[in-house]
Amino acid sequence: MQFRTDPRTGKMLSALGLGCMRFPATAGRIDIDASERIVLDAVERGINYLDTAYIYSGNEAALGEIFSRNPGLRTKVNLATKLPLPRCRTQDDLGACLTRSLERLRTDHVDHYLVHNVTSAAAWERLASLGFEDWVLHQKEAGRIGLIGFSYHGPENEFAPLLDAFDWDFCQIQYNYMNEHFQAGTAGLASAAERGLPVIVMEPLLGGKLASELPREAKAELDAAKESTDPVRLALRWVWDHPAVTVALSGMDSLEQLMQNAETAERALPDSLSSAEARAVQLAKEHVSSSYKVPCTGCGYCLPCPHGVNIPSCFGAYNASFAHGRIQGMQQYITASGTMVGDAHFASDCVRCGACARACPQHIDIPRELSAVRRRLQIPGLPALVRLGTRIISR
Ligand code: SF4
Ligand code: SF4
Repeated sequence: MQFRTDPRTGKMLSALGLGCMRFPATAGRIDIDASERIVLDAVERGINYLDTAYIYSGNEAALGEIFSRNPGLRTKVNLATKLPLPRCRTQDDLGACLTRSLERLRTDHVDHYLVHNVTSAAAWERLASLGFEDWVLHQKEAGRIGLIGFSYHGPENEFAPLLDAFDWDFCQIQYNYMNEHFQAGTAGLASAAERGLPVIVMEPLLGGKLASELPREAKAELDAAKESTDPVRLALRWVWDHPAVTVALSGMDSLEQLMQNAETAERALPDSLSSAEARAVQLAKEHVSSSYKVPCTGCGYCLPCPHGVNIPSCFGAYNASFAHGRIQGMQQYITASGTMVGDAHFASDCVRCGACARACPQHIDIPRELSAVRRRLQIPGLPALVRLGTRIISR
């Protein structure tokens, strides 16, 4: 396994981390035996970073069961889980969520604790108003939290201010060759590196879309790169080619995937992509991008929208729905709409004031395109459903 140094703590982390969200399941129930085989094989191959979250149904408990079946396993890994913002209305809620995670995971501490899916400065301000900063300090002193970070799905221009809003130990961003200008993107990766923060990458394969659902022409470009013909290997190697990436998470749900990704990680050193491979990725990107409908670069000049619409993320999801399928677009749309932070805003919240369009260097007719986003990605009644769900969860 290749290990990379956490620039802040000096810890050595495996370049490949195991995303536990996709543990094998049968009829909606996690298969503990199959999941245990994956975790043990991952650790055997040198993976020392496991990622889960409070809201991944049954996931923390499954991992806790695997730890309890295998004495000594817990101490071999850096365990990451995440705080669910919609459940946190008071400082006591923060403590209750952490306690619940520790109980499920059958451990007394989390090595990497993340605020889950911060999508805006407003989400951070709400958290800060609960006394988050003092709370974290106290939990660190009590040894219940090792390092504190956040996962991010907001617009590019709000990422750097969030990095500076608190004394974070690490951050987690969505990053892959199609998302250089989406959410934190390459600029966000550089901002984190400038601040000496380790970066955990999620979605290096865009939820598997860069593995199995590439347009035919894009796949042909990758196949033509003789040194590495497999789209999965090339997409992962593109991520690890960036020295600022510390760990790339992959939700591996079979031993075969694990073996292939671990082998790839072994050799995927920073700056090791050949020029032929880099060119193949570039051409594949161009083919995927040519299916995009809105020429949004994700610059964020149109933000903030006074009605909270996350404009670049709406267009990112809309474009993804043409390149990678409508379901992928809808998933991306729901995530980026802030549903998990209890502060959801949708394309339908646009009142067509036009302020954003005047600031757009691409001259996109933003209100008109947002209507198209709503028609394609927003099932009728979604905002009301999400707001109701958030109210129920937060009780
Ligand atoms: S036109 Fe719509 S998206 Fe643009 S700023 Fe006004 S309300 Fe927000
Ligand atoms: S200003 Fe235009 S190009 Fe930039 S993020 Fe907004 S819509 Fe996209």
